[in-house]
Amino acid sequence: MQALLRFRLSSSSARSTLTQGRWNCGPRPIPIPTVSSRYATTSAALSKKLDLLALDKKWQEKWQSDTLRLSSKAVSAAAAEKAAKLTGEKPRSYILSMFPYPSGTLHMGHLRVYTISDVLARFYRMRGHEVIHPMGWDAFGLPAENAAIERGIDPAEWTKHNISRMKEQLRSISTSFDWDRELATCDPEFYEHTQRIFLMLYEKGLAYQAEALVNYDPVDKTVLANEQVDANGFSWRSGAKVEKLNLKQWFFRITAFKEMLLKDLDSLAGGWPERVLSMQRNWMGKSQGANIKFPVTVNGETGTGIDVGVFTTRPDTLYGVEYIALSLDHPLVLKSAETDPDLRKFLDNAASLPADSKAGYRLSDLTVSHPLRIIDKESPLVARQLPVFAAPYVLSDYGEGAVMGVPGHDSRDLAFFRDNVNPDSIPIVVEPRKDEANSESAGVVSSADAKAFTQEGYLNAMCWKYQGLHSSEAKKQIVADLKQVGRGDFVEQWRLRDWLISRQRYWGAPIPIIHCGDCGPVPVPADQLPVKLPKIEGDWLKGKKGNPLESSHEWVNTKCPSCGGPAKRDTDTMDTFVDSSWYFLRYLDPANKELPFSPSSARPVDVYIGGVEHAILHLLYARFIYKALSQTELFPEIARNGNLATPFEPFKTLLSQGMVHGRTYSDPSTGRFLLPSEMDLSTPDKPLIKGTQVTPAVSFEKMSKSKHNGVDPTGCALKYGADTTRAHVLFSAPVSEVLDWDETKIVGIERWFSRLWKLVADAQHTLATSPMALDRAALQASSGHATGLPSSLQELSDSDADAVLATHRTICYVTKCIEKNPYGLNTVISDLTKLTNSLLASTPTSPQVLYLSISSLLRLLAPIAPALASECWEILNSSVTAGNATETEAGADTSTSPPALLDSPWPTPLLTLEEADILSARGGQIVAVQVNGKLRFTVTIPRRLSPTTTTEGSGTVTEEQDWIISRVLETDEGRVWLREKNDWEKRRRVIVVKGGKLINVVF
Ligand SMILES: [Zn+2]
Repeated sequence: MQALLRFRLSSSSARSTLTQGRWNCGPRPIPIPTVSSRYATTSAALSKKLDLLALDKKWQEKWQSDTLRLSSKAVSAAAAEKAAKLTGEKPRSYILSMFPYPSGTLHMGHLRVYTISDVLARFYRMRGHEVIHPMGWDAFGLPAENAAIERGIDPAEWTKHNISRMKEQLRSISTSFDWDRELATCDPEFYEHTQRIFLMLYEKGLAYQAEALVNYDPVDKTVLANEQVDANGFSWRSGAKVEKLNLKQWFFRITAFKEMLLKDLDSLAGGWPERVLSMQRNWMGKSQGANIKFPVTVNGETGTGIDVGVFTTRPDTLYGVEYIALSLDHPLVLKSAETDPDLRKFLDNAASLPADSKAGYRLSDLTVSHPLRIIDKESPLVARQLPVFAAPYVLSDYGEGAVMGVPGHDSRDLAFFRDNVNPDSIPIVVEPRKDEANSESAGVVSSADAKAFTQEGYLNAMCWKYQGLHSSEAKKQIVADLKQVGRGDFVEQWRLRDWLISRQRYWGAPIPIIHCGDCGPVPVPADQLPVKLPKIEGDWLKGKKGNPLESSHEWVNTKCPSCGGPAKRDTDTMDTFVDSSWYFLRYLDPANKELPFSPSSARPVDVYIGGVEHAILHLLYARFIYKALSQTELFPEIARNGNLATPFEPFKTLLSQGMVHGRTYSDPSTGRFLLPSEMDLSTPDKPLIKGTQVTPAVSFEKMSKSKHNGVDPTGCALKYGADTTRAHVLFSAPVSEVLDWDETKIVGIERWFSRLWKLVADAQHTLATSPMALDRAALQASSGHATGLPSSLQELSDSDADAVLATHRTICYVTKCIEKNPYGLNTVISDLTKLTNSLLASTPTSPQVLYLSISSLLRLLAPIAPALASECWEILNSSVTAGNATETEAGADTSTSPPALLDSPWPTPLLTLEEADILSARGGQIVAVQVNGKLRFTVTIPRRLSPTTTTEGSGTVTEEQDWIISRVLETDEGRVWLREKNDWEKRRRVIVVKGGKLINVVF
């Protein structure tokens, strides 16, 4: 910290010229109602009211022209310079928000996520980091294609138009993205590399084509990944009932990385929300179990040599098996259907039943015998033949497409059993307690009372020699015994399936494979990439059904790259999740023509910000691609062969923000959602329904067209200013929680900004008439503060000491919060509001302290409200640097203005631990103590110590009150009145009021 303070004669004429000049240069205010300061200022130059919209316009234009000036150099030169910079000494931060789909409209969820990422990016820049904060567009996908089909618009044009609109909207909320890294996944320059990555995976056997029973969306006419079908069998996008079809499709072999994907989640603990980690774990669904073989009896004939293999995690319940259920495409079911027309009919209908359907069809020709029968010749339970069903609830790709039905110990099996078998009783073979298991009477319950006991427990008398064993032990023994006779073995099972990436749509990256009659599938050679989408001519896509690429004959028919003979292009395009699984790596090297990115640029994202709705699929796919690419030449040797103990993960920290809910009005009598035009909001606290003047029901719900509760963030920015909107969205809820957007409360932020404006105006006046002056070099100092504290802390006035302490504490809290716990960004707003209020209530008398406090406050505010803070910064500094301006007035314009706020260093703590303690303790605090309502004594206790000496920062109000009470009890008067004359331990209530100035103790 350097203190460059010198005295000079006031040069007021130069100062006022500068000040007025600045105002004259400013834009004309936009004629929309604005926030105005209700406080008169004494300075003539600053009698101007606070016009936040004008500030937005002025500063947004300035930032944009600065960016343009910077990027007017050749792109390659800029990139080279940046690359050189990035290898320098500065710490680096890659701050990334999930990129949007270019729908054309920014919504409140966008405002929330981009405000958070912008605050982090600006914070780290001011901390001296080289920050990468890019933005791009997840631009392939169905809405563009649907627009083309409905209206005959070229999807590329539609997308381009939407991108330019949204880019403008992003600027209007004062975001600071690196636009020179911008990308759109639908640009051939981008998808060329998506295709390159596909081919890299293909060469390694990680991309393959296979016939599969797939989910087909009959409305969007495309195949969907399992993940895109909801629990009830509906498409996540169109909402259509999904059909099952057998088709040849492209897959990525994500299962090859399953162990790594699961294990490496442990390394993300602390950086990722625990909730997201467990969602990832559950999705992969690793479980330990057994494969058990049930011998099949066909038409009463045993010894057929046919088995049904079943996967189960509960072999301990094997004595409770009552039936076997097979998936609809199980070979035995298909075989039976050849001779059973009723079964065929059932299969046709069942394909459209929901996944949790209880429907079943009993195969008339098949039964199975119990696998334990070879070993256990005594138990009646295993001597029976068991029925076999075809059932839609059995997934063909889980286990072997077969389930052993144990109604006593599985709720779903019980429901199925009741519907399809309906017996009198249900066997219970596992008991919760050991004594019950050892009783000889255990076993069967009546079907009507039965409830599945799904926990582990102890095997009962139904279980032959296994009686009395705990489930965990019984599993081992039973499977070991089955293994001996060739009827079972231990296996591990995963829920994760390979990733189906084929889509039969136009608007996606074409799969770069050519199919030749002689050579089979042949990769498109690297020099023929990208395989571009055929150009849309006129209304070519209008009204088109099915896969448009199939009917683009000129495009489909091509030459085989291998033999030169006639061949056809693959007509599938890739799932858009493929684009988003690697885009964050492209930002690091966006102009690279040869490679997706250069090995030297590859690195993980430091902070990734996005909605919790992407907690599974997008993150899982991106982790997979990152791991797959890390084993290729795209990643530097050091990362691959370096420390193998460090897992290769793309996102070090994940900030997963909650949704934004909108204020929703409905008619209390009918429940009908009301349009904004039906509401009388002239008294914001008391909304009424127009006409009837009835008070509506008010709630906060997910924003949707049907509820008429959507809010346009750019509209808010135009009404209240971008800074106010940003601060309000941050303040309204902790990052991870649902945010109820309540516009009526934005006035709180407006009032705060007005107070801040007055604080700065008053300070400018004070500083301008003080002998304080700062050298511009000091302002451009690379760290800390432009001026130091007065030399003796003991000689500070009370108001100066208060200001120094309050500023110091706020610097510590805000820095710690943004750096260590960005989930608490809402508390940064309250801390800054508190500091503003305390500086207004007790304004520092020393110009140095005044400057230090306010210049710190403005820098802490800069990431949140960049335009207002920049303006205030300019005003504040004009009052202390004006003298310098006169010396260089004839020179370049830039040399006369103070350095831009956003290029200024983040404020460092003002005090050491000891200094903070000295300041906190000095003076003391007077406390009046009442006992049962009567004033008994007043004592002086030390001021509360600086929070830097406590472990928990500011602590809570209760903590502070406890601290005050403890100090009072330590005084002589406290001991006499609260311990001797009264029994402190028998106190009924202790009330601390006026911030600790008065305590009332009731005995
Ligand atoms: Zn060929």
